[in-house]
Amino acid sequence: MNNAIDIEHLLTTSDPTAIDELFAEACRVRDKVYGRRVFMRGLIEITNHCKNNCRYCGIRYDVRTQRYRLTKEQIMDCCRTGNELGFRTFVLQGGEDGWFTDEVVCDIVKSIKSEFPDSAVTLSLGERGRESFARLREAGADRYLLRHETADATHYAFLHPAEMRFEHRMQCLRDLRDLGYQVGAGFMVGSPGQTIETLKKDLLFIDEFRPEMVGIGPFIPAAGTPFENERAGSVELTLRLLAIIRIIHPHVLLPATTALGTLHPTGRERAVMAGANVVMPNLSPQDTRALYSIYNNKLSTGSEAAESAADIRLRMKAIGMEVPDDRGDYVN
Ligand code: SAH
Repeated sequence: MNNAIDIEHLLTTSDPTAIDELFAEACRVRDKVYGRRVFMRGLIEITNHCKNNCRYCGIRYDVRTQRYRLTKEQIMDCCRTGNELGFRTFVLQGGEDGWFTDEVVCDIVKSIKSEFPDSAVTLSLGERGRESFARLREAGADRYLLRHETADATHYAFLHPAEMRFEHRMQCLRDLRDLGYQVGAGFMVGSPGQTIETLKKDLLFIDEFRPEMVGIGPFIPAAGTPFENERAGSVELTLRLLAIIRIIHPHVLLPATTALGTLHPTGRERAVMAGANVVMPNLSPQDTRALYSIYNNKLSTGSEAAESAADIRLRMKAIGMEVPDDRGDYVN
């Protein structure tokens, strides 16, 4: 780990100059690798069916909510809209839904890759077996997002039901790496049970595994879950962690997450000013967005995809960043 930075101090200090310096350094580090560019990913929430019962998640199996899944045609339409708007990465995200078998997902991935050969396909469909990851990769998937959620096994067990194993999640990440995916890990900030010690483990894990992408955002309580009355994570702490992650892993692709935008009106801009370089506007159909309620009051402008893409471009330009129509691959 970069010994020049005192992580505990940076996470706890109330000295505003130290924090300003941290953010400025993170931006310098990012600009040296990627320039002043923010990459857009089009997020398509393909299903809110889920067999799991993650204690924090608003679409966990036990939550009584209306469930949906998108058809292949709906997904292709989202990509077509996104392509017109300049998106060159499509992220298919969802709960762990057995309806999306390897066969079904491979067929969708192949269709996207053949209609949009210059676009990257990212999957975020939870844990699957190595064979399954291999088939999806074979079909053309480029990247896979699977947050590790916490690098502390005891904390992991507190956040998840007993059937979900920390070791299995970590094994999935190693398998994805082996299979040639660009891999995304990450965690929530301020999840119940999180401490400075567990955060240090998260940072150590990132430093060692060096995932191509790291998604972090504040925990936000979700109605109908065991954690519905817990406090939300801190925007300030999330920003500090983004900056620290940028400094310890300069090449990482680091999204300014929707969860940050949900807790603070300019949360995503502040994330970029703390070293983030990815934004993920929502391309899901208007009528299903509200149903993908992984936490309360999830930011959704209620606007069309075109409006949210235009809105995010303006926001990024206003803080001096370019938004290229580019796949935005990891730079080695
Ligand atoms: N089923 C997929 C996708 C999950 S949703 C998977 O297991 O990877 C993507 C991410 O949303 C999760 O990894 C989790 O870190 C985050 N998330 C879930 N519930 C949340 C909440 N209440 N607050 C903030 N983030 C949450």
